[in-house]
Amino acid sequence: MASTDEDREFNGKSKDAWNVQHIDLVFDSNSDRTMFPNPLSQRPNTPLCWFVDGDDAVAADVQVDTEGVSSEGIKIKAEAFPLAGPRLNIAFDPQKSIAAVVTCGGLCPGLNTVVREIVMCLRRQYGVPTIYGIPFGYRGFQDRPSWIKLDEKKVRNFHNMGGSFLGSSRGGHDTNAIVDALVEAGINLLFVTGGDGTLRGAAKIAEEIQSRGIEIAVAVIPKTIDNDIPLIDRTFGFESAVDAARRAIDVAVTEAQGFPLGLGVVKVMGRHSGFIAMHATLGSRVVDLCLVPEVDFYLDGEGGIVDHLANRLLENGNAIVVIAEGAGQDLMATLGSNGVTKRDASGNIILDDVGPWLIQQLEPRLNEKVKGKTPFNDQIKFKYVDPSYMVRGIPPSTNDNNFCTQLAHNAVHGAMAGMTSFLVASVNTRGCYLPIDLIANKQNVIDTSNQSLWSYVIFDTHQPTFTQQDDCQRRSDSRMTASGGVIIG
Ligand code: ATP
Ligand code: MG
Repeated sequence: MASTDEDREFNGKSKDAWNVQHIDLVFDSNSDRTMFPNPLSQRPNTPLCWFVDGDDAVAADVQVDTEGVSSEGIKIKAEAFPLAGPRLNIAFDPQKSIAAVVTCGGLCPGLNTVVREIVMCLRRQYGVPTIYGIPFGYRGFQDRPSWIKLDEKKVRNFHNMGGSFLGSSRGGHDTNAIVDALVEAGINLLFVTGGDGTLRGAAKIAEEIQSRGIEIAVAVIPKTIDNDIPLIDRTFGFESAVDAARRAIDVAVTEAQGFPLGLGVVKVMGRHSGFIAMHATLGSRVVDLCLVPEVDFYLDGEGGIVDHLANRLLENGNAIVVIAEGAGQDLMATLGSNGVTKRDASGNIILDDVGPWLIQQLEPRLNEKVKGKTPFNDQIKFKYVDPSYMVRGIPPSTNDNNFCTQLAHNAVHGAMAGMTSFLVASVNTRGCYLPIDLIANKQNVIDTSNQSLWSYVIFDTHQPTFTQQDDCQRRSDSRMTASGGVIIG
């Protein structure tokens, strides 16, 4: 007998062993709403296999428990996410659709490519006539005369540009005003790209739209240069940023090697997660100390960074430190002079600048350690490199450009199909859709608890681990949730 869908098994799991995440739709899926044929399917010779079957999903974890049973003997379902891509039937009439795209939060390589490809896909694959670019982030919704009409010609060269053509901002999110503006302009497709704050803002917009009972799809292309979103493979711009950070390390090496006892210090991005620092350190293979927010370090005594750096300086004549901006924050005073924590317009805590602070701390300590130990009684020559804007403002790498294309097109396909309050991502190399809620308040951090990339950093730099044996368990218990992220906010 031919097997049916119900019989189909994957990795020993029958279909009902999968927990496929639900993505909200702009309409009631039980209603007999008219759907529209995807214009792509009307083109001659478009193969049917280009379209995604509504049941196709991407497994969250490629390392599966084929028994489907937890250690407590409870039946568990494997997590999965709807596969991204064009659907045969779509929810909106493309000819009558109006789209808007907005970029929010900090700049990141690839923002312009995302905008370009949203426009290209909407215009070329679906024939959507009107697309507005909203200037300077969420606040731009309230300034209708400043909206920019985007078409193929306008965005043609966007992929070669750093920054955001549309501009960005922090703060200025007003849910009701944004939804009013969308309704007034007749917009039914909203594309948002930005970081964790932007995601929370987009979720609120989608919620308000839902509560007003109107049909506007809200799609998010997540942006974080720090690559700190759990579950997903990577975020756009991260690879470009790591390459730029590595070039900054090379410059610091040149400077440090040019003088006796040269100590290069490179501060890279990474507020809560040190992925850029870790990857650039490993890529360069010349770093003596890599400091990240995930690992508390200390200055003095056995196993502290002062002894380690003094030894490296005396052995090699120079040394290199890479520090993520969020590292060592608990070693510094975080309060402003008036006793109030400093925040930016979006409410994010402004971190104390760890680079100059570290140099200030190291200078007297290291000079004391090397005193009388070199033929000319040299002092340490600090060479500080802060490449933040060089990392953020560059055009994306080829690989990031291609990745942005995949994300942007999948966002368009999902929105045209009527999905809302979702984000696009790559999980186990496959494009898929995730509900915003699933990751909105979670953060991915470097896993320092087992044989991960972090252990290569320790081997490569010979730096102290700063961890006690029981720290591993404590760290993994407190930081990781079932879905692989730290809860924040
Ligand atoms: P990044 O931190 O990667 O630079 P981000 O998106 O986190 O990007 P933010 O400045 O925190 O950057 O937020 C971007 C936009 O999202 C701002 O306009 C801000 O007002 C809005 N926003 C942030 N948090 C919320 C929230 N909880 N609710 C509604 N809007 C928010
Ligand atoms: Mg943020």
